Amino acid sequence: MLMLDRIYIFGEEILRKKLKPVDKITDCEKAIFDEMLAIMYKANGLGLAANQVGIDKLMCVIDVGGRVFKLANPKITKKSGRDIMEEGCLSLPDIVIKVERAKELTCRALNENNETIEFEADGLLCRAIQHEIDHLNGKLIIDYAPFWKKLVLHKRL
Ligand code: ZN
Repeated sequence: MLMLDRIYIFGEEILRKKLKPVDKITDCEKAIFDEMLAIMYKANGLGLAANQVGIDKLMCVIDVGGRVFKLANPKITKKSGRDIMEEGCLSLPDIVIKVERAKELTCRALNENNETIEFEADGLLCRAIQHEIDHLNGKLIIDYAPFWKKLVLHKRL
């Protein structure tokens, strides 16, 4: 039990960090995945990145419509199309920002069984993957906001 106990909020340094790759999925990583999912469900989120719970590893979890993904070192290997949609983030409570992202993508990652997988995604899953990979690179949805909106939001945060 790691007892990850909270979601890190905008302003905390680890959210801006580039995280470390995972060499191998061990019991430790499996436990992190499970605790991340538990925290995500409690917060009613559909995705969560490791730095959002204070962990410096390239790991994220996603649950879109009951399809659960536990991904380490996720990478987008192909993407196409464009789509603009409002997004929220558990690390930026009560804020929604329009973000333009690819409409379809192919993602390669290490799964919880230590296998390299590659899969295609569209719709909400496609968006969630891009959102979580942004987190793993230290990027947040506020970075997509126009300048004036950033000023307003920074005051609020
Ligand atoms: Zn987020």
